[in-house]
Amino acid sequence: MDFELNADQKAFADTAAQFARDSLAPNAAQWDEQQQFPKQVLREAGELGFLSLYTPESRGGLGLSRLDASIIFEQLAMGCTSTTAFMTIHNMVTWMVASFATESAAAHFCPKLISGEWLGSYCLTEPNAGSDAAALTTTATKNDMGYLVNGNKVFISGAGETDVLVVMARTGGEGAKGVSAFVIPADTPGIRYGRKEPKMGWNSQPTRSISFDNVQVSHDNLLGEEGQGFVFAMKGLDGGRINIATCSVGTAQQALNEALAYVQQRSQFGQSLSTFQAIQFKLADLATELVAARGLVRMAASKLDNQDRDATTYCAMAKRFATDVGFRVCDQSLQLFGGYGYIKEYPMERYFRDVRVHQILEGTNEIMRLIIARRLLEEGGKQL
Ligand SMILES: Cc1cc2nc3c(=O)[nH]c(=O)nc-3n(C[C@H](O)[C@H](O)[C@H](O)COP(=O)(O)OP(=O)(O)OC[C@H]3O[C@@H](n4cnc5c(N)ncnc54)[C@H](O)[C@@H]3O)c2cc1C
Repeated sequence: MDFELNADQKAFADTAAQFARDSLAPNAAQWDEQQQFPKQVLREAGELGFLSLYTPESRGGLGLSRLDASIIFEQLAMGCTSTTAFMTIHNMVTWMVASFATESAAAHFCPKLISGEWLGSYCLTEPNAGSDAAALTTTATKNDMGYLVNGNKVFISGAGETDVLVVMARTGGEGAKGVSAFVIPADTPGIRYGRKEPKMGWNSQPTRSISFDNVQVSHDNLLGEEGQGFVFAMKGLDGGRINIATCSVGTAQQALNEALAYVQQRSQFGQSLSTFQAIQFKLADLATELVAARGLVRMAASKLDNQDRDATTYCAMAKRFATDVGFRVCDQSLQLFGGYGYIKEYPMERYFRDVRVHQILEGTNEIMRLIIARRLLEEGGKQL
């Protein structure tokens, strides 16, 4: 077991850190304040391979492992949490299309998704099917030309400004087995977008509802076979959960770095804040929890790479733990800035706002506990 990064991983991390420093961090506050979706910067990220990190090389992606991708996303998240989180969703979409689309659909969609010329959205959640995603009611009814899609999705990241939608819709009976997945051009007639949701954080990417009103798609738009859509959606989310957990770790590391610098500059009661033991102990605890979170995320990524039978459980554990730790580290780092932490001149309040949603999406942390507990009970107490 080797816990050190290898030379390739260090090189990838360095490239990502430089991109984060040069292209993300200097703009992140403005994107947040003005709710700008930085499409041009995403395109540049595509040129560096950041939009297809684990997409197979046979389809034109970098073909990296999930562990490598996590190491890279962590560095990017240090520059801008929200934009990196969008990149992770785009990576999930690109991987799903590359892995499960027909040859002709993959040849059509993948090159532009990989370059960032087209951006992708993942469309699972519905007004009455959030945590219980298998209860989704969007339908895809077979007809002579393929399928007619009808229904509504909510909370879709990037929607209205992305080009490609991966949509989970019902082709069969109730439950997960009746769900299929489709790759659909975002401007297909019959697709309409709701208002841009005003949000607490994640402001550099739009979130909108989508309605599908007799949207005609062809057989070629189906991913895999009918009835496989929910399995594909969940496979996508295993990696998605590692990625979101990673965004929390990267943001928390950035917050802690800044808090560490701040307490050494700031004096009260005639001495540096860093000389108070209460502050030192807080820093020590935050750093320890952050290292533990990173370790669990990388372990889960490695389980996914090795197709371990418990990979899904580890991904759920990593997502639950790292997003909770990430939120606590950002919250407590803000606290170390005192009143300045609450003021927009400093980035601490943005870090805090941006990581909060990681405890909610890609399966809430309560649903992560359900996944973990179910497996524990199946195993009858055996060590995972
Ligand atoms: C900014 C943002 C971006 C998003 N992006 C996307 C996207 O790109 N694509 C997409 O498909 N979705 C997206 N989502 C949706 C997100 O995945 C859902 O919001 C999430 O899965 C929760 O669903 P819900 O909001 O319907 O909450 P609900 O399912 O209604 O849950 C409400 C509360 O009840 C709890 N709860 C529910 N069931 C149980 C249970 N059995 N036991 C214990 N507690 C339970 C939940 O944990 C939660 O605390 C996004 C959401 C947000 C906020």
